[in-house]
Amino acid sequence: MTKISFLGGCREVGRSAVLIESNKGTKCILDYGVRFNDDDRLPYDTDLSNLKAIALSHCHIDHSGGLPYLFKNFNVPLFTNPLTLRITEILLKDMIKISNYHYPFGYREVDKLRKNTQFLENENKKKIDEDFFITFYNAGHIPGSVSILIEVDKKKLLYTGDINLIDTNLIYPAEPSIIPNIDAIITESTYALRDHPSRKELERNFVERVIDVNENDGRVLIPAFGVARSQEVLLILNKYNLKNQIYMDGLARKVGVAYYDYPSFFRDFSYYKKSLKKTEFVSEKNRKKIAQKSNSIIISPSGMLRGGAAIDYLKMLLDDPNSAIYLVGYQVEGTPGRKLLDEKIFEYQLNNKNKNTNRKIVKKAKCQVDYYDFSSHADQKHLLKYVHNLNFIDNSKYVFCIHGDNKATTSFARGLANEGYNSVAPETGEIYSI
Ligand SMILES: [Zn+2]
Ligand SMILES: [Zn+2]
Repeated sequence: MTKISFLGGCREVGRSAVLIESNKGTKCILDYGVRFNDDDRLPYDTDLSNLKAIALSHCHIDHSGGLPYLFKNFNVPLFTNPLTLRITEILLKDMIKISNYHYPFGYREVDKLRKNTQFLENENKKKIDEDFFITFYNAGHIPGSVSILIEVDKKKLLYTGDINLIDTNLIYPAEPSIIPNIDAIITESTYALRDHPSRKELERNFVERVIDVNENDGRVLIPAFGVARSQEVLLILNKYNLKNQIYMDGLARKVGVAYYDYPSFFRDFSYYKKSLKKTEFVSEKNRKKIAQKSNSIIISPSGMLRGGAAIDYLKMLLDDPNSAIYLVGYQVEGTPGRKLLDEKIFEYQLNNKNKNTNRKIVKKAKCQVDYYDFSSHADQKHLLKYVHNLNFIDNSKYVFCIHGDNKATTSFARGLANEGYNSVAPETGEIYSI
């Protein structure tokens, strides 16, 4: 029997980690992320003796954030691609640098991670042990993201990682038809209960609103995740040849430039390069000047307004009824972005380093606040389409629903069970044999 241990990302989005163990005891870890909602940030602790390999689906911290911890004790290969390694390193170093939380690892383990990395191209089967192989397939989620096929004990198991099945401006979508016949799938369920609006219409509405605000002498702030979303938004805006200058700040600049070295991961690299060349990068000392300039369009992390350069801009825009803040990613409950969207209230801490004081400021937004759902996750319709399009080898049809909140994972599993799938929403620490 092959064992699947769910170490995290169960009934939650955060600390994704799955352990696969062959019948002779060889182990392989798929992703090893962190979560931010409490003190228990790393995946569930378990016996990792006889670990032979780690495979990474993509760079997002909920999939990669705990990886350095593994390199404290193990010298095993980490399979990924050059782009994912580069961005993972940027994100890990940033996480260690800005965190108040004390992670049980540091820069040394990030270096060790890099030294243990082996690159694997998509659709190339790699042997990690006898009767144990992995293959990557494009996941369409962000540049470099992959789904991972594990072949072990003559069984085939697909771990989707985060997937997207619609066309975006940065990359091509995942293509379920190229996945071989499988015995089991471990699938993400982030939007298992919701459909996204039509992408084309959404893009057009978004750009029209940006133009309107600019024509009324207003400024537009687009808080966006630094990895992929900021660059995707830039490509959307550039399709319409706006006459006003687009500015980019924070981590989005660093990631945007890092992407230059990996043309093959992009759908239309020359368009990407051209768009980035037209963009003006802002340094910290120029923020004020740019924020006060009428007609500016500013793309800046963090996407949920938990920190980053976006906060500096936001403070200068909140009181201006002509300006707008357009959120372009999902706003998790309890984040400042969610509060701003739901209640038009922004709360932040004002730190005075000289006086060593920390004051909470609560402000009502007078500017426009809106949300555009430019998600990079498959929605309900597409998740179902994906599962339906896969071919299962026999009638066991195992489906494990993870990476979604309690309601999304359990409802998705129940719905599929009603269709005849052998589906469950595992809980953290549970082990299944197939
Ligand atoms: Zn992701
Ligand atoms: Zn994720």
